[in-house]
Amino acid sequence: MKYTLFEETAKVLRVFAADSKEIPVKMPTNFITVNKDFFLKNPELLKSLIQCYKQNFGRSDVWGEGYKCLKCGRVLSLEYVQKYTKCNFCNGNKLKEIHSDKDLTERILHEADDKAFPRPFLLVHDPKNNKRLVGFMWGIVASLSQIQKEIVSMRYLDEQDIGNAVMHALEHALFTHGIDFQSKIFYVAEAGIDPEFRGAHHGGYMFYLSRGVLEYVYANGGAECILYWTNNLSSVLEWGRHSSFELIMEASGKPVLYYLLNKRPRDMLAIYQNLSLPELVDLYKMSSKEFKKQVHCIIRREVRIDI
Ligand SMILES: [Zn+2]
Repeated sequence: MKYTLFEETAKVLRVFAADSKEIPVKMPTNFITVNKDFFLKNPELLKSLIQCYKQNFGRSDVWGEGYKCLKCGRVLSLEYVQKYTKCNFCNGNKLKEIHSDKDLTERILHEADDKAFPRPFLLVHDPKNNKRLVGFMWGIVASLSQIQKEIVSMRYLDEQDIGNAVMHALEHALFTHGIDFQSKIFYVAEAGIDPEFRGAHHGGYMFYLSRGVLEYVYANGGAECILYWTNNLSSVLEWGRHSSFELIMEASGKPVLYYLLNKRPRDMLAIYQNLSLPELVDLYKMSSKEFKKQVHCIIRREVRIDI
């Protein structure tokens, strides 16, 4: 797979890329890095993060993970449940919230306090309202076996069989790309922007979030690669392609799940450190047509499983 434009940029920028320890993290003022203490002292921001998370994953535009019908198992979006209040596919009226306040609170507090695997945890608030969070990204730098647990237990809590099947296919895809159990992987566990704040015209939050977590990863020993997941409806897929990620696996379903791998995270950080947001946007636009042409043949070649 050729990433001609970005590859060339990376070669040039590598020369200028200083050690990240020498480069202080320069984040816009509305970005914050957090830990568990921060959430305990600012419960209103934890609440806001949970709201932002639910909007990002619950709305129908991309993930639609609002509620699950306990009778037929269908996943329904937040908008659907607001409109119909029950499942019209089977007439079931017992709906379970997929990302509940209680589960998210427990999970976020646990992950922000994981001493064994400290995580880069970066949030962005609305520039006009510092009590409202509108974007988030966090992940873990670890080995494949640790990430395995993370993926199966976080994403497939109620469907361990599917989680194991996805994980086996993912391991295979990673091995064929030279990543094994010894590799140090930065796994982006969660990332999202409130639908109202997406796109470069809002300030390129995804760009700053990725740069922020990468600065953290490199200030703490670096990683050989970045592993990231998204779906076929998300605009983040486009961002991944532009940022030298390879699409290594597709898991069919609704929506289709994609796993992306970047084997040159240092170059990615160098590019982010050296280009301004408008320059980066121009670069993306120039390479966009080429990427679109390539995506279909990539999917056919790579590992594909049905879930
Ligand atoms: Zn149903």
